[in-house]
Amino acid sequence: MTVVGLDDTDSHEGMCTTWVAARLAERLRETGATVSRLLLVRCNPAVPHKTRGNAALAVHTDASPDLAFETARDLVAEHADVDGENTNPAVVVADHSPTAVPERVVEWARDAVVAHHDRAEALDLVSTLAYHHAGWGNARGTIGALAAVGAYAAFEDWTYEYISYRARDRWGTPREIDYDALFTAADDTYPEAWDTVDRPTGAAVCVPRTPCPILHGIRGDDPDAVRRVAERTAGTRGEPGNETGSEPAVSGALFCTNQGTDGHLIDEALHGLEDGYSYRTDGVVATEPETREGGHVHVELRAGDVRFPVVAFEPTKRFRDHVRRLRVGDRLTVCGEVSEGTLKLEKVAVRSLVRTAAVVPRCPRCARTMESAGTGQGYRCRDCKTTASGKRHQLLDRDLEPGWYEVPPTARRHIAKPLVRGGFDAPVHPER
Ligand code: ZN
Repeated sequence: MTVVGLDDTDSHEGMCTTWVAARLAERLRETGATVSRLLLVRCNPAVPHKTRGNAALAVHTDASPDLAFETARDLVAEHADVDGENTNPAVVVADHSPTAVPERVVEWARDAVVAHHDRAEALDLVSTLAYHHAGWGNARGTIGALAAVGAYAAFEDWTYEYISYRARDRWGTPREIDYDALFTAADDTYPEAWDTVDRPTGAAVCVPRTPCPILHGIRGDDPDAVRRVAERTAGTRGEPGNETGSEPAVSGALFCTNQGTDGHLIDEALHGLEDGYSYRTDGVVATEPETREGGHVHVELRAGDVRFPVVAFEPTKRFRDHVRRLRVGDRLTVCGEVSEGTLKLEKVAVRSLVRTAAVVPRCPRCARTMESAGTGQGYRCRDCKTTASGKRHQLLDRDLEPGWYEVPPTARRHIAKPLVRGGFDAPVHPER
């Protein structure tokens, strides 16, 4: 078996690494080789020098390592923007099966999703292991390509994305999508396929807005379901004037992927959070939620003596309503990336809600709010001389339930796990 790892062939002019991987699979099949799997690996979304979406690709094949390497190298040279300042592609080819990966490469893949890697270290490892390697520019793509080689052995939770590609002469032009067909297909296959659309806003989440070759990418847990949605919302291959009203998809490929798995999250206490990583952490609401300029909702968490700010950004839209309903004292688990000392919320679990508030008592005779009678002296009504020994507990009307809340599909990070996938430790309130 042979594993080809590819990374960083994306460019702002529209090239996309998934397209290069799909073309590579096609070319290898043309030689009579079998391609058993295409892997789409999302690396740490908090890495600063990332490509769009920080994706790396692997192709699993029985083609010889030499043939696979030459074919991949030629494709990247031909199609990637290898002269682009921010495009630093690499190809890494390993002569072993995707499951018989050296432990160091397995660890490399695990770290690539949660942490940070050094380019020089990647080049060292590739040469130590005598993998075939080609790099362009500064070859930063070697980091991701190596991670893609190790990924299948490193992770257990996999989902699928079926990506349909546009005819070349349409790249960069507005996409023609039959939205009725898309929304119907999305309804029929939910939740086997998820994040296809965003219902309340009517957004087609699966359709990219970049000038890349992708017509749409359908995600889900069931490979047949994602393929079905793709076929129902693209025209007949290569033939214009199809029954759906969408433009034709000239090709398509099924990718096995770590998207939607929360693979980027590290369990850590509030005092251990650092910029450049994503976490799952517990805390108690320490400040009333505050909507600031731009519509971002800020709130502070505490755990012991440590306080840490978290934010629900404006693009998370209706998710912010849940955050606004939090009160001081609510116990939470929050998930998200930390940057500039703030955790950017992707999802939150309400563990327990404060149900009562201590309020200054009212006078039982005149109903006016009492005044303090002095430190430790309780309260009294100045007019009626009635007294109360302390604050009283008032039942709060909470418009929030315990359980997990998430950002809507439009705001979801590729790697973040949708609640509808299940396996969470509390009731869920999925967005669809
Ligand atoms: Zn009174």
